[in-house]
Amino acid sequence: MPPRRAIGNPKLRNLLMSRGTGHIPIRTCISCNARRNKKDLIKLILNDDGMVIRDTDGKGEGRSAYVCPDEACLRSLRTNKRLKRAFRTGGVVSVHPDFFRAVNNAGTPGG
Ligand SMILES: [Zn+2]
Repeated sequence: MPPRRAIGNPKLRNLLMSRGTGHIPIRTCISCNARRNKKDLIKLILNDDGMVIRDTDGKGEGRSAYVCPDEACLRSLRTNKRLKRAFRTGGVVSVHPDFFRAVNNAGTPGG
């Protein structure tokens, strides 16, 4: 029987524990609370008028929220509650009409 020298080796332990824990940013959808890869979600920000728009160029600062590109999740954005909570504003948060248009164009053709 060979001596089990590997056990307790800190270098080996680190190697094993770091496997599979890459730097994938995970965000939560404000509609269905699913945790997904940031890249698979649509980023929402508030514009200067306090309307929700899609952060297309990724330079949106301040508070942001994420939503799945699914129809059900997008539809539930029309109800204010989740948006208000996500952006922590006391006032009314409305989604910019262009947002839905852009999403529809990207998703379903001829919608
Ligand atoms: Zn969702």
